[in-house]
Amino acid sequence: MRKKVIAGNWKMNKLPNEAMEFISELAPLVKDTENEVVICVPYTDLFYALMHAQDTKIKIGAQNMNAEEKGAYTGEISGEMLKAIGVEYVIIGHSERRAYYNETDESVNKKLKKALLLELKPIVCVGESLEQRENGTAKEVVTAQTRLALEEVSNEEVIKTIIAYEPIWAIGTGKTATKEDANETIKWIREEIENIYGKDIADSVVIQYGGSVKSSNAKELFEMSDIDGGLVGGASLDAQEFAKIVNYK
Ligand code: PEP
Repeated sequence: MRKKVIAGNWKMNKLPNEAMEFISELAPLVKDTENEVVICVPYTDLFYALMHAQDTKIKIGAQNMNAEEKGAYTGEISGEMLKAIGVEYVIIGHSERRAYYNETDESVNKKLKKALLLELKPIVCVGESLEQRENGTAKEVVTAQTRLALEEVSNEEVIKTIIAYEPIWAIGTGKTATKEDANETIKWIREEIENIYGKDIADSVVIQYGGSVKSSNAKELFEMSDIDGGLVGGASLDAQEFAKIVNYK
């Protein structure tokens, strides 16, 4: 039985004091959940969030990492740096990073392998554009992104990898994929994983849906057969709203 993982992606929002206030508000609201609760915060909030989330159900993640260990990469943060302060999760290959910061399937694969080596828990984002959805190539796009992300990832490692299916046209737009379309696309991703690793492994990989998830649509999405929780942007900025998503049942 796969666990539901509900992860917030704050993007470039919230100062450290706001992060701590949010955690204080969220912690009692999610203390009884069986779902995994994660918030992926800006780098500058990580340390404060980690300290503040101790002894709560809330796990802390970063939104990106560099695949190199150290060196002349001005402005970058390595996986080792995240690991050293106790960060547990890291988002890799978010569509905003692919679109604005030249992330490619190759860099995503490199970062994923490094995160797994360091025992960070990766959330790898894949998803098609509106044009690709409309011209019928969505399946090809998401399965290729999945396959390329997972190149040279072992059986043991893929089980520890979370995939977030995030149609680009649904991110921050208020447009959500229908629960049927989201579930079907996640099945395509799972089939691709099955082609590489076999059915048992494919059945144990957590695959989230992301794209305008909110408390009003979380239940119908997360109750679908193949949707194992969500990656939540805008709606994760409000503790009350995010708690309702976590406690969607
Ligand atoms: C995201 O940033 O990953 C996301 C899904 O954003 P939103 O929920 O705001 O669409």
